[in-house]
Amino acid sequence: MLLVPLRFYRFIYPSNSANSFSLCLFCLHFYQTHPTQTCFMSSIDLHTHYSYQIMLPEAIAIVMAPTDTTRKHGIFHLSEPSGVSVIRNCQARGFHPHEEPSDGSPIYEHCSHVLMNTNLNFDVVDLRNK
Ligand SMILES: [Zn+2]
Repeated sequence: MLLVPLRFYRFIYPSNSANSFSLCLFCLHFYQTHPTQTCFMSSIDLHTHYSYQIMLPEAIAIVMAPTDTTRKHGIFHLSEPSGVSVIRNCQARGFHPHEEPSDGSPIYEHCSHVLMNTNLNFDVVDLRNK
């Protein structure tokens, strides 16, 4: 089940076989829209996602970039352990550049643990405008 709360966060409530709510609540991802930019993770996106990924290693960041002519969306996460370490040790605020990790890995990368399945059935509960 996907629950769309009043605010911009998305939460997923796992349900049991009877489709009742579980007491287990976790935030799996956040999403960011880049209406006029390309599809990438800005420094603010990286710092925001860091707080999700340290609580849940499987957390993902979805970037929607409808005007990007090469890629309309991306599903990213911080590289482990290098990208996580760069962001953990960064005290800067706002938009700012980051040094590449010393081991040559990227700060963030496309998620390899996300599968797109357009046939997946699930319930959506949208609490906005109620
Ligand atoms: Zn930073």
